[in-house]
Amino acid sequence: MKGFPKNCPQEIIPELISYLKRLDQKGIKSLYLAPSPTSSKDTDVETVVPETGMGFEKKTAPATDTEKDMKTTPANVAKRLAELESKVKTCDECALHGGRTNAVFGTGDPETRVMFIGEGPGRDEDQKGEPFVGRSGQLLTKILAAIDLRREDVYITNIVKCRPPQNRDPLEEEVRCCERYLVAQIELIKPKLICALGRIAAQWLLDTKEPLATLRSTENSYCGIPVLVTYHPAALLRNPGLKKGAWEDFKKLRSIISDE
Ligand code: SF4
Repeated sequence: MKGFPKNCPQEIIPELISYLKRLDQKGIKSLYLAPSPTSSKDTDVETVVPETGMGFEKKTAPATDTEKDMKTTPANVAKRLAELESKVKTCDECALHGGRTNAVFGTGDPETRVMFIGEGPGRDEDQKGEPFVGRSGQLLTKILAAIDLRREDVYITNIVKCRPPQNRDPLEEEVRCCERYLVAQIELIKPKLICALGRIAAQWLLDTKEPLATLRSTENSYCGIPVLVTYHPAALLRNPGLKKGAWEDFKKLRSIISDE
């Protein structure tokens, strides 16, 4: 880490250090810093502290309405996501870039309460450049409809943005290379709930090697955001016997976001 920006409030530094240590344990040595809304200068994926810290509040004088508007308006978040997406589209940081047709950044409502995170793009997603558009995606869309959610109401993305060959699990070094983008997406969207679709997403978010069955049955969180763990839709297609458990998970999800 290069250090904290000069204007970083001293009182948040202990929490900031704790947060950065957690990222460091995951192997994240750099973070994406969205450009300042007052600057036209682009900041590359570089060693920086995220502008909006996850889970900690600045205890200095509250931002004025104008400052808040500049930092957190939906338009500004959308702009920052678009800038991040353009970086992902041309990213060649790991070997997966060599086999992709399209990088798959993520899609949905940046103001959503719930963010779904899967493992990585499959063949259809790679072709279309959108997450969860193949058979698994169609099933996810149906499950969402069953709990009165539309795809457009949520945000959907993956741990890695480029398709692993033959749909194999992403390798640890690939996940480490790519996770900076996901961290930035979560920072910008600030969901009230994250739904981890499958083991790979759950284990990364929760920084554990515990099996999916264990993670489904426990209360979990990522940097203060509740994480609900369920099966990947592809697993439900392979093994329809899992659908009953998945339905219980999605009913729980509906209940959580209804209480918000
Ligand atoms: S998987 Fe992620 S890190 Fe690897 S090339 Fe694609 S966008 Fe870059």
